[in-house]
Amino acid sequence: MTSQQPDVLVIGAGVSGLTTAICLAEAGRDVTVAAAQQPPRVTSAAAGAIWGPHLVETGERVARWGGVTLARLTDLAADPATGVHLASGIAASASGWSDPFDWVTALDSALPCDPAELPAGFAAGWRLTAPVISMSVYLGYLLARLERAGAAVREAEFGSLDQAAGLTGAPVIVNCSGIGANRLVPDPDVTPVRGQAVVTENPGLSEFFVGEDPGDVRYYFPHGDIAVLGGTEEAGDWSLEPDPATAERILSRCAAVEPRLRGAAVRAHRVGLRPVRPSVRLEAESLDGGRLLVHNYGHGGAGVTLSWGCALDVAAAVLA
Ligand SMILES: Cc1cc2nc3c(=O)[nH]c(=O)nc-3n(C[C@H](O)[C@H](O)[C@H](O)COP(=O)(O)OP(=O)(O)OC[C@H]3O[C@@H](n4cnc5c(N)ncnc54)[C@H](O)[C@@H]3O)c2cc1C
Repeated sequence: MTSQQPDVLVIGAGVSGLTTAICLAEAGRDVTVAAAQQPPRVTSAAAGAIWGPHLVETGERVARWGGVTLARLTDLAADPATGVHLASGIAASASGWSDPFDWVTALDSALPCDPAELPAGFAAGWRLTAPVISMSVYLGYLLARLERAGAAVREAEFGSLDQAAGLTGAPVIVNCSGIGANRLVPDPDVTPVRGQAVVTENPGLSEFFVGEDPGDVRYYFPHGDIAVLGGTEEAGDWSLEPDPATAERILSRCAAVEPRLRGAAVRAHRVGLRPVRPSVRLEAESLDGGRLLVHNYGHGGAGVTLSWGCALDVAAAVLA
């Protein structure tokens, strides 16, 4: 800890908490991050990840947060140490075009695929270039940047926001607890959509693939010598245990799209709980004694995609 009484206590060390803490610490505030779990034991570490709003509200706010984050991630891609790179690949749909792929049109590079490029079973697709993020590297980069900005990260699990407020004298508390908000706030509107992924050796892939069938998703993202393969979207499932049968299914479905993945050595299994909510909760409320509580959670399948836009809005509310 930098001090016993920081200016701001940020609850949560996932992509939302770390990015928000960076914005505040780099603006000169004394920030402490307190989290029950730190990377890699957070949902954010399970993400693929690619820039693209998914399983989240649509509309002006998300378009703005996503646009801000797209620009930031594009800048970060200039430095390979961040874990962000710009990759080319295909986003395809089994059923033709529908809402889930609205986001591709926000990318200047997106062009409809030549039908010959589409894997069997997919009816339409776009070829595009987008920021692709190796979350294990990126979360390490965020932690190091936060440390350079003078912030502290410590382990603490809170039973309620009142308890957190009682344990700190910080005049500002920011709640970036992801799916944990379901119990911490408590907020029954934030519910899990479980995602399982398999990490394999990279058999030479440089392009990503994201494919959607109704109610199903499959993807792979190359990150240097590994590839992250997915996935699942299991609404209401709180299990953090990898399911071996699901892992086999992910491997065989991805290999059907990219045969070089057949037989690729498995390095790890990842599971995360997407914090899905009818709308992202980014709002401030007053606490007793003139203190401020700012919520920043409920980003669904788009927490990485919206991270910088949301963090800067939180910082603006706090600094005002
Ligand atoms: C398989 C999968 C693939 C995904 N792919 C993408 C993608 O390609 N692009 C994208 O943008 N998004 C993707 N997502 C979604 C993204 O991962 C989430 O939206 C994002 O990680 C949410 O980040 P967060 O910081 O809000 O939550 P988390 O990463 O869950 O962090 C929450 C933090 O709060 C802490 N906390 C919770 N409760 C308490 C408590 N009571 N006391 C103290 N601390 C507490 C936790 O310990 C943790 O540190 C994916 C998710 C999954 C599961």
